[in-house]
Amino acid sequence: MLKKKQIVLLGATGSIGTQALDVVRAHPERFVVQVLTAGTNTDLLIRQALEFRPRAVVIADESKYTTVKTALTGTPTLVLAGADALEEVVQYKEVDLVLSAMVGAAGLRPTIAAIQAGKDIALANKETLVVAGQLVMDLARKHGVSLLPVDSEHSAIFQCMAGEQQNRIEKIYLTASGGPFRGKSREYLTTVGHEQALRHPNWVMGAKITIDSATLMNKGLEVIEAKWLFGLQGRQIDVIVHPQSIIHSLVQFTDGSMKAQLGLPDMKLPIQYALTYPDRVENTLRRFNFMDFPELTFEQADTGTFRNLALAYRAMDIGGNMPCILNAANEVVVAAFLKGKVGFLQMSDIIEETMQLAEHLAVPLLEDYLETDRKSRLIAEELVTKTKKVYHIEK
Ligand code: NAD
Ligand code: MG
Repeated sequence: MLKKKQIVLLGATGSIGTQALDVVRAHPERFVVQVLTAGTNTDLLIRQALEFRPRAVVIADESKYTTVKTALTGTPTLVLAGADALEEVVQYKEVDLVLSAMVGAAGLRPTIAAIQAGKDIALANKETLVVAGQLVMDLARKHGVSLLPVDSEHSAIFQCMAGEQQNRIEKIYLTASGGPFRGKSREYLTTVGHEQALRHPNWVMGAKITIDSATLMNKGLEVIEAKWLFGLQGRQIDVIVHPQSIIHSLVQFTDGSMKAQLGLPDMKLPIQYALTYPDRVENTLRRFNFMDFPELTFEQADTGTFRNLALAYRAMDIGGNMPCILNAANEVVVAAFLKGKVGFLQMSDIIEETMQLAEHLAVPLLEDYLETDRKSRLIAEELVTKTKKVYHIEK
C-alpha cells in the first residue's frame, strides 16, 4: 500500500496554498496534512483546519491567536502563533515534505529550518533562492534534501530534465507572458495604477507576484531562482516572451536539442508534480486543445521599458547579497505601489538606488542576509517617502 505523504503547507491560505489543498482533496489516498499556516487570514485558516484536522496550525500574526484558538477549541489541532512557530512545526518528526508557499523573504527562515530537519521541500517561495541561493542549495545538499520546484517555469525545466541527469545543459529559456502591459511604452506606464497592474492576462495569483509579473521582476527573480536550482551561469539563462503561456519553459542541451514542457496555464499541475514526484498521477485538469491555440508566438523582452528584469540580471551578476538587496527593495516598492504611494516606473528607480546605497557583501552568512534584508528595506522605505508620485498628465 502507498505510504501517505505527511505534509506541511506554509502559506496555506494563499493562491498556491489553496490550490495545493485542491490537489490534496483530489488525492486523499496520497496525503495527510500535518500542519497549515497563514499570515493573517484567520477565517480561511480555521475553515481549512476544520476540514483537514491537522496536528497543528500557525497564525503568523500573533494578535490573531485568540481568534483561531477559540474557533478550534475542542478539535485535535494545536494552535500556535508567531514567526518562530513556523520554524518549529516544519521539524515535526512525521513530516515528509514542506510546501513553501509564503510570499516574500519571510519564507526564508522556515524553509531553512525544514531543510535542516531533513524535510523535502516543494518550493513555490522563489524569494528564498533569490535572497540566499548559495546558502540554501549548500544546506539542501548537506542534508540530502530534494528541492522540488513549484514555479511553473522551473517545474517545466525540472520535468524536461527527467532522465537527463548526466547530460549538460547548454542553456535554458524561461518563458514570460509579458504581463498586462506587454508592448506598452514608458509614457503609457506613467499613467497606470495598481488596478490595471493587478489584471494579469493568463494567471490568477497573489497580489505581490501579480505586480511582479507586470513589471517583469517576477521573471528576473525566476532567472536567479533557475541559476541556483539548476546550477547554471547567468549567461546560460535567457528569457523569451510567449504571450499564450502554453510553453512553460525550455532546455537546450549541448547537442542543440531542445525540450519543452507544455500545457494550459494552471498552477495545479506543477503543484501536483512537486507533491507526487517522482510519480505522475491522474487528474481531471482541463486538457490542451491545439485548435484553441493555432499560433504560439514569441517576442524579445523589452528591458528598456521593464527595467526590473535588467536589474535582476545585474544583481545576479554582482552576486553576494545583491539579489537580497534587490528583493528587499522590490518588496517595499510593490507594497508602496499597491497603496498608491509610488508610480509604476518609479519602482525600478527606487530598486536601482537601493542597490547603489546598500552595503555589498561578497560572501554573506545567514545573519548577513537577514541584516541586509532589514537594512535594504529601511533604505527603500526612505526612498519611497522622498518620492513624489509623478503621473503623466494627458494633454
Ligand atoms: P499569496 O499572497 O496568495 O499567499 C501568501 C501566503 O503566505 C498566504 O497564506 C499568507 O497568509 C502567507 N503569508 C504572507 N506573509 C506571511 C508572513 N509574513 N508570515 C507567514 N505567512 C505569511 O501568494 P501566492 O501567490 O500564493 O504566492 C506564494 C509564493 O509562491 C510566492 O513566493 C510566489 O512568488 C510564489 N509563486 C506563486 C505562483 C502563483 O500562481 N500564485 C506561481 C509561482 C510562484
Ligand atoms: Mg513562474
